Amino acid sequence: MKTITVLGSTGSIGTNTLDVVRRNPRKYTIHALAAGQNVSELTSQILEFRPKAAVVATSSDLDRLTARLETTSLPRSEWPELGWGDAGRIAAATAAEVDTVISAIVGVTGLNATYEAIRKGKRVGLANKEVLVSAGKLVMQAVREYGAELVPVDSEHNGAHQCLRAGNRSAVSRLILTASGGPFRNTPAAALRSVTPAQALRHPTWRMGNRITIDCATLMNKGFEVIEACWLFDLPPSQIDVVVHPQSSVHAMIEYHDGSVLAQISATDMRMPIQYALSYPERDQAPVPKIDWSQARQWEFLPPDFAKFPLLKLAYRCQEAGGSATCTLNAADEIAVQAFLEGQIPFSGIYEVVEETLARMPARSPQSISDILNIDAESRALARELVVARAAGAVTA
Ligand code: NDP
Repeated sequence: MKTITVLGSTGSIGTNTLDVVRRNPRKYTIHALAAGQNVSELTSQILEFRPKAAVVATSSDLDRLTARLETTSLPRSEWPELGWGDAGRIAAATAAEVDTVISAIVGVTGLNATYEAIRKGKRVGLANKEVLVSAGKLVMQAVREYGAELVPVDSEHNGAHQCLRAGNRSAVSRLILTASGGPFRNTPAAALRSVTPAQALRHPTWRMGNRITIDCATLMNKGFEVIEACWLFDLPPSQIDVVVHPQSSVHAMIEYHDGSVLAQISATDMRMPIQYALSYPERDQAPVPKIDWSQARQWEFLPPDFAKFPLLKLAYRCQEAGGSATCTLNAADEIAVQAFLEGQIPFSGIYEVVEETLARMPARSPQSISDILNIDAESRALARELVVARAAGAVTA
């Protein structure tokens, strides 16, 4: 029996993780659930999974969770221990009885608890891509130092992790990450300025949280994945390619020196990589229908359009630059995506805000997680100023 803490239990990855647990009650049990503000979903999860601890974002969320639990039939003596904020999340992720932490909070809010779980030598099923994008060097140092296991949940890295089991690590020549191409794959570049948030949120193959869905539309998400892959698999950006594959069935490929390419193929459903991250090195029964090979199908593979989606190129440049660049890239993108969703900047303004934030932020070499969080906060503040300036310019223009 594996004991699990889910950071981000109320989100898309979190609820899919709980579905995998629900299907395998003899294999997995929940120690703690950490959410943000959705106390209604968290209360349902508490009633179903009966965790020992439950954590929310703030003290006022805790008051709301307490009030909600009081309306249920669960006696107080059977409530989980309740907590909030970083301290609550760290306690949930580092408890002695926890074997595996699924890290699925969106943004750097999940960084501290994930880092501390690594420092306790836990297995971490990593979905929260901001952890490696912001703090890859420090996180991977800690993985090595404390003997933790980082198993990627992101489907592309999970696919690469599977392909890498087939061959000698020193014989790897390239990693190929596939990208769906997002909802604007066939939209002319000139039309991108006027696309709406509703259009950008319509992802062709995956249902995910808002931030990552917009990042898929700009291909920023694929850029983040290139950065993550560099850290996870110890490869330079020059050995990682992105290939557009609209059907999202091939998740990643590894090319070996002899020219053989191994691909990982599976249903387009996040429960597949989540279950792998929980069961590895074993393989459990498929949690979703398998691919039906009796059906005719066509798969395409196309080069990405770097000119139309400049954030992808920017991600390569930031990883090559090293230091604080990728932390700033992530922070500025989060602010710009939010501003786009709120109608303050156009779709193409996301790149402009991110690029300008990077140009204005001094390059630094973060030495600790608190350095990372400071750089993140400064980058966000600057990106917010740029958004406000742009929004004001748009009003007066
Ligand atoms: P969602 O937006 O669906 O969920 C985010 C989760 O984080 C929710 O549980 C939310 O809680 C919680 N959260 C948000 N802010 C806070 C906060 N301040 N304090 C504590 N918890 C907070 O995101 P996804 O599940 O889609 O993505 C999660 C991560 O996984 C992201 O980093 C994403 O890039 C990555 N990822 C996602 C994939 C997917 O298929 N969805 C695929 C690969 C990677 P609440 O809702 O209660 O406020």
